[in-house]
Amino acid sequence: MSRRFSTTLEIEGGEICCRKCGHALGPVGAPWKGHAAMTEIPMRGAAGVPYSGGERVVLRRFACPACGALLDSETALPEDPFLDDVLFD
Ligand SMILES: [Zn+2]
Repeated sequence: MSRRFSTTLEIEGGEICCRKCGHALGPVGAPWKGHAAMTEIPMRGAAGVPYSGGERVVLRRFACPACGALLDSETALPEDPFLDDVLFD
């Protein structure tokens, strides 16, 4: 039995999984973003309108490596570590 954690993630058998396809992204209690497919683009122009924030701010998008569903996103400076979500059952 799976337990929905968010609109994109669920916990199944002690694993954090994509809700769309069930692909496992790592064990509960450990960061999962390192198991996702990540793309990083500059925030400047990301929404089609000139972004007036910091020049170096990037948008990171974390997607399921199996089905491509967008799982999460975050803004950061390029050298910043991932803002890790650690899920517990
Ligand atoms: Zn998936």
